[in-house]
Amino acid sequence: MPLESYAMDVRRSRGRRYPEPSHPYRNAYARDRDRVIHSRAFRRLEAKTQVFTTRFSDHFRNRLTHTLEVAQIARTVAGALHINADLAEALALVHDIGHPPFGHAGESLLDARMREHGGRFDHNLHALRIVEQFEQRYLDFPGLNLTFEVREGIIKHSRDYPPAEFPALAEYLLGERPPLEAQIIDLVDEIAYNTADLDDGFEAHLLDFDQLRAEVPVFDSAFAEVDRRCPQGRHKLKFNEALKRVLDHLVTGLIENTRRQIQASGVKDVESVRRHPARLASFSAEVAGHNASLKRFLNARLYSHPILAEERDRSVAALDALFRFLLEHPDRMPKYYADLAQSAHRHRVVCDYIAGMTDHYLLRQCHELLGTSATRTQ
Ligand code: MG
Repeated sequence: MPLESYAMDVRRSRGRRYPEPSHPYRNAYARDRDRVIHSRAFRRLEAKTQVFTTRFSDHFRNRLTHTLEVAQIARTVAGALHINADLAEALALVHDIGHPPFGHAGESLLDARMREHGGRFDHNLHALRIVEQFEQRYLDFPGLNLTFEVREGIIKHSRDYPPAEFPALAEYLLGERPPLEAQIIDLVDEIAYNTADLDDGFEAHLLDFDQLRAEVPVFDSAFAEVDRRCPQGRHKLKFNEALKRVLDHLVTGLIENTRRQIQASGVKDVESVRRHPARLASFSAEVAGHNASLKRFLNARLYSHPILAEERDRSVAALDALFRFLLEHPDRMPKYYADLAQSAHRHRVVCDYIAGMTDHYLLRQCHELLGTSATRTQ
């Protein structure tokens, strides 16, 4: 099946910062996907928290397995919409590489500390700096030398950046929407983590099944259907089956509504997708409501659960202690960062150094440099 006219055709890519000869059998987006997979930042996702640390279980999601789930769903959605699955897959695989240790709590703390110094921390912008500067793998250029559309999607997949506030990003067409392949990523990300967190939270015995049925109607009706079909089935398998149906319902909802939006808008090519006043990838109001009730439930019952909150507080305290220590003792960072801290803004260098750490490495550094009990989290 050929791609639709509004798909991002790799032959129309705005290309790489440093021109390279084309590859005999991999297109530019497939090569970008491969470069992301071979990057150090990608491998580090394995030791970064999604929601649960390894203290809970070895088979819960970490940021790497979450990323693989996002990539799998993104390929499915892109395939069903006949848009560019190579580009969507590359964007899914790269979408979380800018995440600091300890999930969103770590990101908020770094952002708060940076604001004290007139700066900001945003994981999408950090991801852009990783692929542009920090990854040093190739003789001929710094970073991964990814195509324009992948770099653009890294920063724009989940939010818009007001052009006046971000003049340094002007090349990324901030006043325009990104191609559909980038637009689907944020919604696919949500589907992936909402369903996965429900799965892991239930497995960790932190969620109450009756409460779940009472508060998340889309799960309740899926479970009732499964229960009717197989009343004698094992409870956990019925739970899995219901969750699978919820996932399928959300993905199908995203595909169908996005297709409707594309048709209604009349866009015929990527340039008109870019110029369209709103993003076209979206849930219908009904499916958005289902997704929102799942999200509300997880916020109220899982993420704020005392066991997770306590661990999160300890982790963030360790991150904070290390940030303050390195700000005062930049010479205790590896030579590359210590040298950089002499000339560049010191808090930015410390922030970049810490943001690149895995959870384990951060706790080890705390232990080595501060000798604190912060390491008790692991
Ligand atoms: Mg994600």
